Amino acid sequence: KTERTDFFEKPNELSSIKKVIAVVSGKGGVGKSLVTSMLAVTMNRKGYNTAILDADVTGPSIPKAFGVHRENKGKEMSAYPPKSSTGIDIMSVNLLLEHDTDPVIWRGPIISNMVKQFWQDFVWTNVDYMFIDMPPGTGDVPLTVFQSIKVDGIIIVTSPQELVSMIVAKAVKMAQRMNVPILGLVENMSYFKCPSCNQEHKIFGESHIDQIATKYNIDVLARMPIDPKLAKVCDDGEIEFFEGSWFDHIDEILKNMEER
Ligand code: ADP
Repeated sequence: KTERTDFFEKPNELSSIKKVIAVVSGKGGVGKSLVTSMLAVTMNRKGYNTAILDADVTGPSIPKAFGVHRENKGKEMSAYPPKSSTGIDIMSVNLLLEHDTDPVIWRGPIISNMVKQFWQDFVWTNVDYMFIDMPPGTGDVPLTVFQSIKVDGIIIVTSPQELVSMIVAKAVKMAQRMNVPILGLVENMSYFKCPSCNQEHKIFGESHIDQIATKYNIDVLARMPIDPKLAKVCDDGEIEFFEGSWFDHIDEILKNMEER
């Protein structure tokens, strides 16, 4: 384990970051950013100083979900990441672009360098838990990020319409290679609860998450429904004010991680 620290990049010397949790998925669009945001919101509500590093630079949706903008565009940016209304530190490539609709068309090495800069050049003050919204997939780009930032735990987001067993197998391999524990699986878009008949409909088919969780000995942390209200708060930049939460025990899980 001692070798691991050799190739990790050090954060800025003024930063203080206690634990880093990476959120991964097999592909884009399964709700990884939304889960990252909800995890940060939940821990922030529980009284921890929380930060989000948006490493999903080709689909950076975190600032929008929190309604965070950069006020002095065109001018040099402060060394401190912007804070959301409830005090979550957020850094994302969208906060650096002149227009947040600008596309980001970069190759892997540039993406991982950008992420390294977020980690090194910004001062993350007093952070108990930093959540990293990882680039989608389990290929080279997320791997490079894992090789440069020392991560303490991984959370995997899946949806029922995917080849979940393959994705989990790949993520498990990646985690083993990096010697990082997997803290659990989150199944997003599991069902839709009909507001008129109150029944739960499995829009994307039956879930296999339990069998897979048993196979790999990983916990299922949450099953999140498809909820139009959730999509709306993301669009309106008000995710912090969404009342529900599916991660009531996440603080205990993160505490246990520290004792591993
Ligand atoms: P990813 O990070 O995996 O690419 P996002 O978190 O950006 O995916 O989600 C993609 C889109 O789907 C977003 O517009 C988001 O608001 C919406 N979405 C994700 N999960 C849900 C859900 N459970 N209910 C409703 N909308 C959702």
